[in-house]
Amino acid sequence: MEYRNLGASGLKLSQLSFGSWVTFNKQVDATLAQRMFGTCFDAGVNFFDNAEAYEAGESEIVMGKALKALARPRDSYCVSSKVFFGAARPPLPTQMGLSRKHVTEACHQALKRLQVDYLDLYFCHRADPDTPIAETVWAMHNLVTQGKILYWGTSEWTAQQIMDACDFALANHLTPPSMEQPQYNLLDRERFEVEYAPVFEKYKIGSTIWSPLASGALTGKYLKGIPEGSRATLPGYEWLRKTMVESDHGQERISRVARMQPIAEELGVSLSKLAIAWCLLNPNVSTVILGASRMEQLEENLQASEVVPLLTDEVVARLAAI
Ligand code: NDP
Repeated sequence: MEYRNLGASGLKLSQLSFGSWVTFNKQVDATLAQRMFGTCFDAGVNFFDNAEAYEAGESEIVMGKALKALARPRDSYCVSSKVFFGAARPPLPTQMGLSRKHVTEACHQALKRLQVDYLDLYFCHRADPDTPIAETVWAMHNLVTQGKILYWGTSEWTAQQIMDACDFALANHLTPPSMEQPQYNLLDRERFEVEYAPVFEKYKIGSTIWSPLASGALTGKYLKGIPEGSRATLPGYEWLRKTMVESDHGQERISRVARMQPIAEELGVSLSKLAIAWCLLNPNVSTVILGASRMEQLEENLQASEVVPLLTDEVVARLAAI
């Protein structure tokens, strides 16, 4: 496993990490999570991603139980949570957003569910148009000084919003965001590569990228319809099935995946590994957060680094053309 600094910070994260959206508490229980974390630790993974909103807080409970059972030294790995959407269903007005109140209370609640004393990374899961950026920056800074979080960041903020947060923090000697958590994969490149370019260049922000396989589309598993038990069949994720497979846009993306498949075959690797390895080529990626509903998927995806040397300029150009 290789380790990359989280942007300009001194924190070294494994270039492949592991997240729990959709899977934990739905497809993965605490027993399987414990086995998956064991596999991750053996592979050198040191960062596990979560959020208050995943399964209404239950995902953090599963992660907390599994990590506690493994009893690895707390200084050997990092955990995250994210605040914005709320864990309550439905959230009351004070139970969501990025007010000082919710940012602080959501942190305390995540610590309890995850059974840890501090969060290594704490994200604003989306931007909150109803809260001044100054209030959120202050709330995050205070949590840092209290030792409840170590690094804070954003997720899917616009470049302008991230720069505004950095500028406010730096002008007031507060802790600026260290990282962004955006989607980035072979099919979704624009925001990461174009919009965020000045953020990476000027502010040296790190990134923990999500959905490297576009929710599974980039495995090639949807080329012949929707496989039983796959993410697109899960109750509650009908919206994902529509956008990923059933819409014209989804079909257009899947037709591009079909054109990538022969490249993977020529290289003698799975499309999943190729797609994850491709993300690692970008130096602005600090860590690629893997998702897996089964152990075999995790084991396969953890081998993706081996494919990086096969991604010559010619291969990368062919993928870019698609
Ligand atoms: P991926 O795009 O890699 O999708 C993972 C899913 O694809 C798996 O759960 C599985 O779904 C399928 N899959 C994965 N590997 C294989 C394989 N080798 N063969 C076949 N199928 C496979 O990542 P996620 O969308 O899960 O995102 C990763 C993490 O990023 C999340 O856990 C979360 O921590 C974070 N995230 C953050 C967001 C944010 O807004 N900040 C948003 C989304 C994710 P199945 O078996 O069910 O088909």
